[in-house]
Amino acid sequence: MANRSKSRKRTPWDDLPEPTIVQEFLQMHYVARYDQRHPKIKDAGESKLINSFTPAKCPYCESDDFVKIGFDSNGIRRYKCSCGKTFKPTTGTIFDSRRIPICEWIEYCLNIFRYVSLNADSWNNRNAISTSKYWLEKLFLTLENSQNNVILSGTVWLDETYYSLMMRERVRDESGRLLRGLSRNQICIGVATDKKHTICFVEGFGKPSQKRSYEAFKDHIAPGSTLIHDKEKTHKKLVEKLHLKSVSYSSAKLKRLADSENPLDTVNRIHCLLKMFLNAHSGFSRDDLQNYLNLYSFVINPPSDHLEKVEKIIKMVFENPKSLKYREQFVEIT
Ligand SMILES: [Zn+2]
Repeated sequence: MANRSKSRKRTPWDDLPEPTIVQEFLQMHYVARYDQRHPKIKDAGESKLINSFTPAKCPYCESDDFVKIGFDSNGIRRYKCSCGKTFKPTTGTIFDSRRIPICEWIEYCLNIFRYVSLNADSWNNRNAISTSKYWLEKLFLTLENSQNNVILSGTVWLDETYYSLMMRERVRDESGRLLRGLSRNQICIGVATDKKHTICFVEGFGKPSQKRSYEAFKDHIAPGSTLIHDKEKTHKKLVEKLHLKSVSYSSAKLKRLADSENPLDTVNRIHCLLKMFLNAHSGFSRDDLQNYLNLYSFVINPPSDHLEKVEKIIKMVFENPKSLKYREQFVEIT
């Protein structure tokens, strides 16, 4: 982190023996603002927050046979397990071995929720971009299964939309021209909502199939619900297996309607916002698309208050620890 402080905390006049009054004033306020935004872990008062979570099991051997053994130098509770290992409430969570206070993480989440792009966020918090990306990885990991338990019911609007591969990844035909239409170069995203909750899943490349739309939504729509859609054929298996009441419109007819008259307007509007959100993060690896969809769904689903969302995330982090193990090669470079 020393490196980060040097780069972003620096002013042009740091090495001047006698800065002018104006330079001194700018320097003082710039640095004060930086320090206010980046408190040291010890001063951030987060030990109380961390200590309020008691680990359910030892992160090393999963035993619940452990005892409290005082605090570390930051005032964070330490435990000792019968397996001989010591740990803290943060061990095995995304806050493990962090070099940033949790209050910065809160600010980061709030910015992301406000649809701020990685670049803008990095600038706002004066963090290096690689740090923002590292935090985004942590956020993705936390939200990995966040759509798993969502089940839509009642009236459900379902429609697919498409997002392009990055230019350099797009497939070309023998003559070097980009494939046209709903080709391999388009990633199909299924979006469904019952106006209370919304879910978004990658369905694969090009046109969706019966099998893929069924696989994507079979665990997320309550049997017997009413399905409003425009792809009778594609959703046939889903409708049959879940005994849905199908209300299907022909897309040719829908195209001629004004938005306000379009029965799929509800889901079309979500498509539109989703694309704005994805475009704000343009240039991301399409391998991460499902992670972005999980994040988007988390942002648009209840609770609507952003601070309540952060509260939910902090609970998820401590109550369902996820180690960064398989991403250990992702080294924080700042
Ligand atoms: Zn243990």
